[in-house]
Amino acid sequence: MGGPEKGLTRRKRPRTCVGCGAESPKRGLLRVVRGPDGKVAYDPTGKAPGRGAYICPDAECLRRAKKRNALARTLKVPVPESVYEELKPFCPEKTEDDP
Ligand SMILES: [Zn+2]
Repeated sequence: MGGPEKGLTRRKRPRTCVGCGAESPKRGLLRVVRGPDGKVAYDPTGKAPGRGAYICPDAECLRRAKKRNALARTLKVPVPESVYEELKPFCPEKTEDDP
């Protein structure tokens, strides 16, 4: 028992940041989800049902995503300002003069 499932192939989608386009599973991308009710929200658990979009925990990526409306394009629904505000605390500015 417990062998690999056959017949049902589920392709794993790479998690790609909507801001910079990088696939970075290691950095732990933030997940934004469009729930079954069509509402978009930050998903801290990463397990909420619905279509997900991912973004780096980085202020630059958040800015780019917003500028290009990338979240809305990925999720195919309008993304309210509040969602970006929600993500902001998780996307700190990077300081260039980091040691
Ligand atoms: Zn990014």
